[in-house]
Amino acid sequence: MKIPQFFNAFGIPRRSFLNLAAFTASAFAANRLRAQPAERKPPAGDGKLRIIVFGAHPDDCELSAGGTGAKWSSQGHHVKFVSCTNGDIGHWGMAGGPLARRREAEVKKCAEILGNQSQVLDIHDGELMVTMENRREICRQIREWHADVVISHRPNDYHPDHRYVGVLVMDAAYMVTVPHFCPDVPHLTKNPVFLFAEDEFQRPNPFTPDVVISIDDVVEKKFAAVAALESQFYEGGCNGGPHLVPNPADTAAVAARKKVVREEFGSYFSATANRFRAGLVKQYGKERAEKVKFAESFEVCEYGRKPEIDELKQLFPFFGA
Ligand SMILES: [Zn+2]
Repeated sequence: MKIPQFFNAFGIPRRSFLNLAAFTASAFAANRLRAQPAERKPPAGDGKLRIIVFGAHPDDCELSAGGTGAKWSSQGHHVKFVSCTNGDIGHWGMAGGPLARRREAEVKKCAEILGNQSQVLDIHDGELMVTMENRREICRQIREWHADVVISHRPNDYHPDHRYVGVLVMDAAYMVTVPHFCPDVPHLTKNPVFLFAEDEFQRPNPFTPDVVISIDDVVEKKFAAVAALESQFYEGGCNGGPHLVPNPADTAAVAARKKVVREEFGSYFSATANRFRAGLVKQYGKERAEKVKFAESFEVCEYGRKPEIDELKQLFPFFGA
């Protein structure tokens, strides 16, 4: 993600302050996180679109596609966000099972706000690897969701978990259609359209969007989701510190801290609209595009089905007059 500088990078010593209690809680969380059969249920075959978004951490899907997800959901389409790690080192002052549970609760709250399904995989933050087990997991997720659209990070990104989500999803593109790969879940007869969410990385090639979506009509939901991800943003995530968190009794300081977070993310969401204004003009026409304040954007991955522009408009049904 192109997260504002003071939020990004995950540099704390890995579980250096994990104590026995946290380890026990972590083991408990691991079992609990695995037992989520309801979250693997496929959406109804009702002719609506089925979108699955993979992020590395419990906030990435919400930040990269939360607005577009809310727009799809408001039209009755089926959206699922999968966090490929449990986020258990993503805070400056806590880690392990207690943090994994807290971060799962935060994305569940986001899901209520944005209207999507949500699942957190039980893989430690900072330890996602490109393995056969994980390739199968991603493949099963896409098949179980009967996905029309799959979104992920690109494989060139600052964080190893982000990069490996990109690789794992690319590795599943095409394999989801191969009947004898993971035969325990029926293969898809139609390869989904795979897309990458926006980032700012330039090498080996910069992100080049094929679709830019105005999220002005749902941006308050996205701001509410950011507020719900309080361990990451209000409290400052892994590179934050206690200096960021006001005494809860000091209501003026609490309001000021919330305002700072909102303004940071306002700049971040509007940067996409400004960066890709030409794409907005192409899709919305000049007059409407010039008024767009906040946006999300996506680039088609060439390994999945390659949609023509008309199909892309059907998959992102937001450009009507
Ligand atoms: Zn992340």
